[in-house]
Amino acid sequence: MSLFLFLGLATSERAAIAQPPTYTILPGDTWVALAMRFNVEENELHRLNPHFNTSRQPTIGTSITLPDNAAERSGRMVRPGSESTLSTAVRFQLSPWAIAALNRLESPYRPNLYRPLFIPGDGTIRDFPPGIDSLELSVTSPDPGQALGIRGTTIDENATIIARMDGLPVSIAGTSNRFVGVVGTGAFYAGGEPELIIQVDDHPAWSQPWGFAEREWDYQELTLTGEAAEIDQQSRDEERARLRELWTHITPNPQWTDRFSTPINDFLSVTANYGARRSYNGGPYLTYHEGIDFSAYAGTPVFAPAAGTVVLAERLYVRGGAVILDHGLGIYSGYYHLSAVHVTSGQTVQPGTILGEVGTTGLSTGNHLHWDVLVNGIWVDPAAWQEQGIDCWLLEGLGSPCSPPAPTE
Ligand SMILES: [Zn+2]
Repeated sequence: MSLFLFLGLATSERAAIAQPPTYTILPGDTWVALAMRFNVEENELHRLNPHFNTSRQPTIGTSITLPDNAAERSGRMVRPGSESTLSTAVRFQLSPWAIAALNRLESPYRPNLYRPLFIPGDGTIRDFPPGIDSLELSVTSPDPGQALGIRGTTIDENATIIARMDGLPVSIAGTSNRFVGVVGTGAFYAGGEPELIIQVDDHPAWSQPWGFAEREWDYQELTLTGEAAEIDQQSRDEERARLRELWTHITPNPQWTDRFSTPINDFLSVTANYGARRSYNGGPYLTYHEGIDFSAYAGTPVFAPAAGTVVLAERLYVRGGAVILDHGLGIYSGYYHLSAVHVTSGQTVQPGTILGEVGTTGLSTGNHLHWDVLVNGIWVDPAAWQEQGIDCWLLEGLGSPCSPPAPTE
């Protein structure tokens, strides 16, 4: 399998050969690991990629240029400091002198404090967080508004992992050597190249920037009349503050067991997408739409898209008839403006359980279902959540099976 992408391949073969090879950065592709893997000098990588800030690791999802003489080799990179060259030799069943020769060390008996060691063998050379021996991301170039997943394996069983993305805590679950994590980014998320930071037990923290794609948003002007117009900002803030207490509680393990289905079958159209910038009665675009609106006839059944626990089932002032489900791992989903609610708080639901009926209660201008999905208290795009299949991606990261959406009647 070739990892190189030759630019200009379409024009002519000669042009393709003349172009330097490029490579897309994945987690663990740090400067030192890339130099070791492609058997080139780190300085040469910096010289060929001057637009990168060399004091940071290369950004996940971006492309770098490799020298013409790059030649990939397989093996592993062992960080210094974690063990002596002799212990490394024992662990990989190599002679200490062979390791010294491969790494141009004068002697295996001199301390090697700074230089990572190259150990030949199977596998791709990557510089993973110390204590982790595989790490994957759910998406290489995420959009603002997406849920972001990480998964992998740790060297020690039941290791404790702490992770942050741009300062936001990542919810982590694990079983023996496997771990998964998820974090949300909102529709006002600045994007750019925030740092993913991972720390295992008391090993040193690891970080790498993660590059975001640009995203276009819809703009909507809404005119509120009658009862809806009387709902002031203070009422919205108070209701949100109360719900935020629910949303930020993290039930550690995933409760869902299948792909999330769409919570309504019989809808007329999607009348508002997630992230649409909103202006009310001619005001500025200060808010965005926190979920998806499905217009439907009053009384249309609304289903649970996945297993979870009902944490709220009542009439709210702004959201009207409301049901909120806790799916575990910091994932919540909400169903609002319902004319009737058919579940009670504390109840466990399965995919397809009827939660209630479509209505136009609360701050609503017509019969519709507003569906939202939150990760760690941040609204994410429910459509992207479904399209990405991150629900199954996370379960599979824990070694659990995951099936397609259950059919609803
Ligand atoms: Zn809505």
